[in-house]
Amino acid sequence: MHNLLEGKCALILGVANKWSLAYAIAEAFRRAGAGVILTYQGERQRETVEAIGAELGACRVLPCDVGRDDELERLSQALRSGGRVDAVVHSIAFANREDITRGFLETSREGFSLALDISAYSLVSVARAVAPAMTGGGSITTLTYIGSTRVIPNYNVMGVAKAALEASMRYLANELGPRKIRVNAISAGPVKTASARAIKDFSSMLDHVAERAPLRRNTEPAEVADAALFLASDLGRGVTGNVLFVDSGFQIMGF
Ligand code: NAP
Repeated sequence: MHNLLEGKCALILGVANKWSLAYAIAEAFRRAGAGVILTYQGERQRETVEAIGAELGACRVLPCDVGRDDELERLSQALRSGGRVDAVVHSIAFANREDITRGFLETSREGFSLALDISAYSLVSVARAVAPAMTGGGSITTLTYIGSTRVIPNYNVMGVAKAALEASMRYLANELGPRKIRVNAISAGPVKTASARAIKDFSSMLDHVAERAPLRRNTEPAEVADAALFLASDLGRGVTGNVLFVDSGFQIMGF
């Protein structure tokens, strides 16, 4: 398993800190021999992500706020002039705290648009920015959650955003397939990260999964990272347009 990504270059968006799913993925990709490019959202995060990049031995750390077309364009140019990209991991989501906590019926128009823009449309804009650098084909993987198809208490507008994200993933898989670019989603079980803390009663979600999932435990970030590694590597060469659940089996349970 050691050299699965030897000679490949991976762009990983969404490392905020060491608890981020994207951090576990970047670590796994480095161990598997990939060169890794990280991005950060705005000056506020620059130092932290640069320090993480140095620790992981990332080849580049670039700015990219996915809400800004100018930054996506600059990322696209930087990648095209910097050699080939073989794998992309999109590990980004955002919703206003009040739009998650106060009940779905009360979701504001602006909050709905913002959640869908940053959490779903960004997969489309990132794919468009990066595809020209994926000259040898490759893999784009996004992170989703079962709240896209089931009602999960307190997940609210983020569930709608994940449904749009998964549909976008399928349309992109169809359009990018002829260019040998595969597009997939990993549906992870709940993991305590900065984003997850914004969801009310998140710890009761963890308890529920640990009690009910077939494996009777929660998901480890390293398990999500290994699935991302599989999808980015040649082992995943026949897989596209797929949602791969890494959730201790929770998604099969009806009650
Ligand atoms: P995280 O560490 O907070 O990562 C979320 C990332 O999104 C952060 O790096 C954040 O950057 C970034 N982001 C937000 N707005 C952005 C923007 N405008 N431009 C660029 N980046 C932006 O939390 P995580 O749990 O690892 O989340 C990663 C992905 O996994 C998300 O799509 C999430 O929905 C998904 N997921 C998480 C779980 C879970 O239980 N943790 C389960 C299933 C799926 P800043 O911190 O700089 O804002």
